[in-house]
Amino acid sequence: MHQPLATPQVTDLLDFDRAHVWHPYSSALAPSTTRLVESANGIRLRLRETDGTVREVVDAMSSWWCAVHGYAVPQLDAAARDQLERMSHVMFGGLTNEPAIRLARALTERAPRADGYAPLEQVFLADSGSVSVEVALKLAWQAHAAAGRPRRTMFTIRGGYHGDTLAPMSVCDPLDGMHTLFRGVLPQQVFAPRPPAGLDADTPTYAEWERQVRALYAQHADDVAAVVLEPVLQGAGGMHIYPPQAVALLAALARESGALVIFDEIATGLGRTGTMWAADRCAVVPDIMCTGKALTGGYLTLAAVLCTRAVAEAVSSGSAGALMHGPTFMGNPLACAVACASLDLIGSHTLQRTERMQAELDEALDPARALDCVRDVRTLGAVGVIQLHEPVDVERVIAAALRRGVWVRPFRDLVYAMPPFVSDADDIALIGRAMVEAIQEVHG
Ligand SMILES: *Cc1c(COP(=O)(O)O)cnc(C)c1O
Repeated sequence: MHQPLATPQVTDLLDFDRAHVWHPYSSALAPSTTRLVESANGIRLRLRETDGTVREVVDAMSSWWCAVHGYAVPQLDAAARDQLERMSHVMFGGLTNEPAIRLARALTERAPRADGYAPLEQVFLADSGSVSVEVALKLAWQAHAAAGRPRRTMFTIRGGYHGDTLAPMSVCDPLDGMHTLFRGVLPQQVFAPRPPAGLDADTPTYAEWERQVRALYAQHADDVAAVVLEPVLQGAGGMHIYPPQAVALLAALARESGALVIFDEIATGLGRTGTMWAADRCAVVPDIMCTGKALTGGYLTLAAVLCTRAVAEAVSSGSAGALMHGPTFMGNPLACAVACASLDLIGSHTLQRTERMQAELDEALDPARALDCVRDVRTLGAVGVIQLHEPVDVERVIAAALRRGVWVRPFRDLVYAMPPFVSDADDIALIGRAMVEAIQEVHG
């Protein structure tokens, strides 16, 4: 049996962590607080405090939107154990493996479909979301080069987030994405204004946005390689919900000009926004699509890029004769086996649940609307967002929510929840109450 850590060990671990370990977007000079997770089960994390106490809290973040079935999921544990007994990894160059093939088949079967669009039927298994976006961009660049019309520019909208490696960073929001810091290093892309908030496109604001975007696109149409979007919900760039019509418009502009359409569904896909893919709300199938985050149910790092036969053939017919990418851990059997088991758990019941969760989040977050510090409350599927008028006092809101039994990790002016799909109505009520009360306590 697993031995719980003694208090001096916990202190020692946290001291070393603070002194020597990078955390996401962290400073070595002024590291922010980290808490030690000893284990996790269901939707709860067991945190070990330095005073020896154990605190069980609901994970309203699904570990950065990945652990959609919660933790220690029997079906996923079994898939991992079963695969470990065969092999954990084997190279993908010249060799293949059953879990990778099964996963590719499952993804093509579940890929978005719409009338008038070719299906996504070719799969590249990447080892993280950022790498999958790199591959998607390379597919687009290679496809154009092979057709003898090298186009370089990616056309996207402000407020996006597509990952932390260099090419994906170039399509992240230029201000949030710290483009100034990396000036001269990042490729230059074209950014349209962010579409107006909400799903409704029948507004004067939307009409004005459309006019601006058409004009901007026309200026660059001849050099656009692809339009790159997180459809309907921009995640890490600001939890911004925008009209499916905006997605459809940009996809149509791309098609008319001979550019490709790339959907980054790493955050939105696999049921999170209430439909299997956010693309399903837009009646558009992209030429290239990235999926990641929840793909293994949060067990292991894995992402995938799907593309149409036409893109795959165009890339393969170029001078290189191949897609020029091949990570060491490509097609990792352990991750793929868990991903297959996770996809098996995502079905129509998941979509019904995430749809109902939207109503529960609406109700649970509603009291926030009465607070003076709150600017907006919005929900989409299993995503609930409270936006303040000012930057969140992150450390204090985290502590206040933890005292109420919930783990959240706010950023900028946003306190949000992306709970595991297995959360029930009571869990959502608890999450909402903790968020609202924590904001009230800290921001008044
Ligand atoms: C998280 C995320 C990525 C990057 O994925 P990593 O696995 O962190 O590299 C890319 N795009 C979107 C939309 C994301 O939410």
